[in-house]
Amino acid sequence: MTSLADTQPQALNFECETGNYHTFCPISCVAWLYQKIEDSFFLVIGTKTCGYFLQNAMGVMIFAEPRYAMAELEEGDISAQLNDYEELKRLCLQVKRDRNPSVIVWIGTCTTEIIKMDLEGLAPKLEAEIGIPIVVARANGLDYAFTQGEDTVLAAMVQKCPEKAVPQEKEERGNSLQKLLNFGRKQEEVKAEESAYHDHPPLVLFGSLPDPVVTQLTLELKKQGIKVSGWLPAKRFTELPVIEEGYYVAGVNPFLSRTATTLMRRRKCKLIGAPFPIGPDGTRLWLEKICSVLGITPTGLAEREAQIWANLEDYLQLIRGKSVFFMGDNLLEVSLARFLIRCGMTCPEIGIPYMDKRYQAAELALLEQTCHEMGVPTPKIVEKPDNYNQIERIKALDIDLVITGMAHANPLEARGINTKWSVEFTFAQIHGFSNARDILELVTRPLRRNHALKDLGWNQLVREEAQV
Ligand code: SF4
Repeated sequence: MTSLADTQPQALNFECETGNYHTFCPISCVAWLYQKIEDSFFLVIGTKTCGYFLQNAMGVMIFAEPRYAMAELEEGDISAQLNDYEELKRLCLQVKRDRNPSVIVWIGTCTTEIIKMDLEGLAPKLEAEIGIPIVVARANGLDYAFTQGEDTVLAAMVQKCPEKAVPQEKEERGNSLQKLLNFGRKQEEVKAEESAYHDHPPLVLFGSLPDPVVTQLTLELKKQGIKVSGWLPAKRFTELPVIEEGYYVAGVNPFLSRTATTLMRRRKCKLIGAPFPIGPDGTRLWLEKICSVLGITPTGLAEREAQIWANLEDYLQLIRGKSVFFMGDNLLEVSLARFLIRCGMTCPEIGIPYMDKRYQAAELALLEQTCHEMGVPTPKIVEKPDNYNQIERIKALDIDLVITGMAHANPLEARGINTKWSVEFTFAQIHGFSNARDILELVTRPLRRNHALKDLGWNQLVREEAQV
């Protein structure tokens, strides 16, 4: 029998447009990664353009002394009159003196690409000189979109994960998460629980998630007797997991294809290809796939999923039969669309900046299966969409809810079209069984609000359409 991950999606229709769409620049990943990795410092080597973007996109966070800074290139840097190495050394020494981080992450930008600044070449030399590890990630707007920034940083960090730890240290590293889970419990209880784990090869999960979600997913696996040996990234850079050849790895987010590739190619890990743990359906299949690869029979997942669905009924009534359109800007689109179709929505189009059909194979297969089971047409998947064309299609299709960026949200609302701002899905807690409600809370909010305001009769606020 072939498993879900092995079946190639066929009936899905893939298209590729011009790539003329709005999204956040991938350097925005510093905003959540510096919070996740508590002892890190992010240095974005770019221009005022990048600085303006970060300053505005991060909102109130910029007043909280964030552990990120811009290394703003000047005329002299661009024309190579200044020495890159000396300039970076000066800045990194200042960071070391003021913040003393365990790692400095250099984020390369469009400008460093175009002037061909050799960050990867400079880093090892400077690292040795100042005594702090330097990770180089080229998270620029030329090559990547939004969440892919995290992918470039994590792919670079894979190289810094210890290969083999001395046995005791390995225990310590692997157990830092366990220690947290066992906090305040008696030694005997902990011992007894250790034996509840099945004997399976080590499993490392990758993807940056808020700590409460990390704990939830770790506990879900623990219920199945699976021990998580580590997470990439960990709470601290010094706690990066040990990764040895032959370890199993599984991703929690759809945009981590480079990290997955690096783990497989450079560290010889075995990737577990599963749908992503978004929505109760995705979470169950993610857990089941991990269980099946590790040779463990899952227990109680069907009941758990059914119970979560029953809990969502009030929200489901609001969206059943409605249509949703993803303009596409953060790569979470396929997983979210699959979940919303399972909720009873229809989805004519999923826009997505970049589609790795191999890394997302199981998710695409599940999307197709979900459409068949729910009796709705499969969506058209539009890679590198063209926002202008999409707006035309949205108008023609009379969509109930458009998931889009801030650039189009208000103009569409003014034309009587419900919108949900897509970036919120990146920062909200959407993974695992218990967070399914949060996704639907976000999705239904504009519908509930506009329903409440309907009687005012102000749903069309533009006087006439401009003729372009
Ligand atoms: S797209 Fe390029 S220039 Fe613009 S903010 Fe991003 S890295 Fe900087």
